[in-house]
Amino acid sequence: MGQTSGPQIFAETTLAARRLERLSARIEAPGERSSLEVRTPVTDEAIGSVPACTANDVSAAVERARSAQSGWERATIDERAAILERFGDLVLDRREELLDLVQLETGKSRQHAVEEVLDVPLTCSYYAANGVSVLADADRSSAVPLAADATVTYDPVGVVGVISPWNYPLTLAMTDAVPALLAGNAVVCKPDERTPFIALALAELLAEAGLPAGLFQVVTGEGETVGPALVDEVDYVTFTGGTETGRTVAKQAGRNLIGCSLELGGKNPMLVLDDADIETAARGAVKGAFTNAGQLCLAPERIYVDEHRYDEFLDAFVGATRRLELGLEFEYGPAVGSLIDDDHLESVREFVDDAVENGASLLSGGRSRPDVGPFCYEPTILTDVDPDSRVACEETFGPVVSVHAVSSVDEAIERANDSEYGLNASVWTADRKRGRAVAREIDCGTVCVNDPYTVGWAAIDAPMGGFGDSGLGRRHGPEGLKRYVDVRTIATSRIGPMDAPPGISPRWFARFMFGLTAVQRRLARWLP
Ligand code: NAD
Repeated sequence: MGQTSGPQIFAETTLAARRLERLSARIEAPGERSSLEVRTPVTDEAIGSVPACTANDVSAAVERARSAQSGWERATIDERAAILERFGDLVLDRREELLDLVQLETGKSRQHAVEEVLDVPLTCSYYAANGVSVLADADRSSAVPLAADATVTYDPVGVVGVISPWNYPLTLAMTDAVPALLAGNAVVCKPDERTPFIALALAELLAEAGLPAGLFQVVTGEGETVGPALVDEVDYVTFTGGTETGRTVAKQAGRNLIGCSLELGGKNPMLVLDDADIETAARGAVKGAFTNAGQLCLAPERIYVDEHRYDEFLDAFVGATRRLELGLEFEYGPAVGSLIDDDHLESVREFVDDAVENGASLLSGGRSRPDVGPFCYEPTILTDVDPDSRVACEETFGPVVSVHAVSSVDEAIERANDSEYGLNASVWTADRKRGRAVAREIDCGTVCVNDPYTVGWAAIDAPMGGFGDSGLGRRHGPEGLKRYVDVRTIATSRIGPMDAPPGISPRWFARFMFGLTAVQRRLARWLP
């Protein structure tokens, strides 16, 4: 148990107000600064504050990062990997405190906070093991193989800005920062104003793991001030958050001609085919739709069930959902925690009220639960949803899901693809081959078969990102590393300038080149 100083809530955790004060003091914002109060959704009490950084603070942080980066770039990838592996070990060693902090800042249940803590060491190990091969110089073929060669080299872009949201503050601050650091970049992270302490705790652990000073910094403050200031200073920005903010970031990155990757919202479909194991699909729907109280970008919000299995599925899904326990204890037990704040609770309530006013039936939930916590809302299942209502088209980002009967797989695919978004989908079937074939028809960056999202996210070797309004670029896998490097081609000629040698007329040289090209094209077909 931690020392209690400040709100009583700390008594339930391994944390104390003084611990958060020390974390806040890591932010370099000298002189007079206004501060931002951080409140816990568990009790809606203030738990601490962080500086409201200015554009000058951001500029100074990026300058410090830039001067630290040149030494880091000269270290070998193995040296960088060793530090990141140590960091992964420390995350596991300090898991209880990190779990408490995630719960305190987000109000999510402990079992869902676990996913965040597990993700970081796995990401560190993946990139530590694969960084050398992905970033090694690569020989490429030349159009004139005997006369020239070409080599591709990968150099860090410099300083990477990571702008992260509140829903997975631990995972989403690090999952993009780890490959950036491994590639030899410095990182300046701007966490959401509601969840700054997790990012600061990670900065502390990175320093303890031996990361040289200045290479991972956190700037806190209002998104609309600190976010644009960061995008103006860095060499690459990776953003996770809402689609509209993503567009603003992309516009600014475009103006500055820097690269960006955008991980945005979704309206994720789940397809239950006629041969699915219904108990398994219902269990998957519960896990997918209500993890982190539905505040998960990958969560299914629309479920399409073959009409012959619709009643059976609804029985199983509604039964399992009604058995879910809501609670905000700092221990394993309750499955569903809190929404992040009052505004978000109000937004979720409006979605459901609008759906019901437009004829939807409420099979479970549909009520806020102030008796459990100030921003708790029951897991909610809707049917008979008007296809034009907000809940059918817009991302709710809460514990709300609608279920629809469909008459065929083709209809399920057509309705799944009827969205501006394309982040994640899942297909449920007894035949995995059939599931993979259906997956190919779905316009989403990730499609999981017989799992709602974990199997896709946990395939760290495979890229992840969205189609359409769900984003741009990919995280995870080699793609998630290569976005952070400048790619240079070094081409060498063994015969001097690629031009007609002295004494050869342009006409003869042209004939020779056409002949050579014809041979090369033939060879390319025979020797792929
Ligand atoms: P948001 O877009 O409001 O905020 C995200 C981050 O951007 C925060 O750190 C915020 O401070 C910052 N920000 C705000 N204004 C900014 C600006 N003008 N310039 C730069 N940064 C700015 O996101 P939110 O609505 O709080 O988060 C939920 C959304 O995030 C949902 O739509 C969810 O689907 C999405 N999300 C996507 C993924 C993914 O991997 N695709 C993961 C988690 C969340």
